[in-house]
Amino acid sequence: MKTKASVTSVKVRMYRHGFGDCFLLSFFQGKDRVFTMLIDCGIKYNTKSADVPIEDVIEDLKATLTPAGGGNPAVDVLVVTHEHWDHVSFFHPTRSPDYFGKFEIRQVWLGWTEDPRDKEAVAINSRLRDGAAALQVAVMHLKNAERDEARQFSGMYMGKRIATARKHFNSAVNEVLGFYGVSAKEVSKSGIKYKKNGKISVVTEAAMSHIIELGKKSGGIKYFSPGDKVDPRALPPGVNVYVLGPPRSSLINKSNPSGGSAHETYLGIDHTGLSGFIDGMLQLGAANPAAAAGNHTGPFGGEVGINAKEAKKDPFFQETYFAKTEEYRLIEHSWLDIAGQFALQLDGAINNTSLVLAIELAESGNVLLFPGDAQVGSWLSWHDLKWKVGKGPKAVTRTTEDLLNNTVLYKVSHHGSHNATIKAKGLAMMTHPDLVAMIPEKEDSYNGILYKPLLDELQKRCKGRVLVSADVNHTPEKLLKKRPDGISAAEWKAFKKNVVVDRLYVEYTVK
Ligand SMILES: [Zn+2]
Repeated sequence: MKTKASVTSVKVRMYRHGFGDCFLLSFFQGKDRVFTMLIDCGIKYNTKSADVPIEDVIEDLKATLTPAGGGNPAVDVLVVTHEHWDHVSFFHPTRSPDYFGKFEIRQVWLGWTEDPRDKEAVAINSRLRDGAAALQVAVMHLKNAERDEARQFSGMYMGKRIATARKHFNSAVNEVLGFYGVSAKEVSKSGIKYKKNGKISVVTEAAMSHIIELGKKSGGIKYFSPGDKVDPRALPPGVNVYVLGPPRSSLINKSNPSGGSAHETYLGIDHTGLSGFIDGMLQLGAANPAAAAGNHTGPFGGEVGINAKEAKKDPFFQETYFAKTEEYRLIEHSWLDIAGQFALQLDGAINNTSLVLAIELAESGNVLLFPGDAQVGSWLSWHDLKWKVGKGPKAVTRTTEDLLNNTVLYKVSHHGSHNATIKAKGLAMMTHPDLVAMIPEKEDSYNGILYKPLLDELQKRCKGRVLVSADVNHTPEKLLKKRPDGISAAEWKAFKKNVVVDRLYVEYTVK
């Protein structure tokens, strides 16, 4: 650090490469860039943007981060929020060129959920990866269901509609796999590419390992827990960074809003009924079933029920279940349908492992909130936290409510989905008159994103100052053309002065 002077502004560059997060934060003392932070760099599986190819984004990062005197591009901190493909894909060492191999990454910040020394984290992660693998197997088998059901119901009343419903269901489940950088389309007919230990390769894992290697090469890796405040020695003067998530409590498993106690959905990482689903799926998909985890071959324990091959020989089942007239009752594949429910829960559980940071500029008190893809449970857990700022009689306490009240830039969680920005204990507390939202999102990528009621509320609270990265229906170019209703001419002018719209990025300056 050159001087002791405080940071006076932060430029937040949101790249426009498609559906996924890639944010570069540059911290300035006056006109000098003194510190840089890259938060995530990924894109939705199997997608790319013709207008903003990732190569151009990487070139822009290189140009911005290469020191004036030359040398390798350097970033002070790389923050990786969570292990989803749309946040980590460009760190994969072999799926694409090793984009970040030549970067000097001075520190890597990750959530405690990635810490290999943390037993709880290891348990959660191995279960989540098992879950992703199980889902991959389920999708394979659901493909068979598609074929079998088409045959079974052909010519029947509603047969076509059943087949169509099955197709939609399967592709929706398959979409979730994309978060892991895998798709059932890729796997061989004989099953799945197994690692020696019997586990299915999960591609995001390779990206995460590479991130850790990059961190180890230079300044090292820090794992953060909720309630932490980042050591000021790791930051430029005048910047406080508060850690809000991922939660340590059971709320990490809560991904959807409550609708009365009966409607809660949880992914039991260790011990709910879905555990049997994971084990059963891994067993079904394993090249050598005996070596696979667990000893089940379905949703129920091995001692419950009879397998289909044996049942076909049994006269009782021949006359009943397998009888031609009873064909519509065949339910071989129906239990796979839990895969849909499971896929959503798995997705939410991983979103809740997001590292959530509130970055405060001490001089103005303004806060930038970067929640990754945190969902309901994470948001709720933040309100149990408090931080002490300063020393001695000058020390003050910060609560999550303070941080939300002072938020002037909200990176919208989970690309603006329906269950990742909560109302009362979230957006309703973002009461700062200068509030601006940034949404990294591309049109028609997922059903229900952008969630219209959330977008409306953001537009109201931000008085129209909502910047979207790559959605043709909500371009920043169009936004800047006309002053929205509800914002004063002075506020609009001030906002426009702080926005730069480029082909590759939208940048907003916070002071
Ligand atoms: Zn995401």
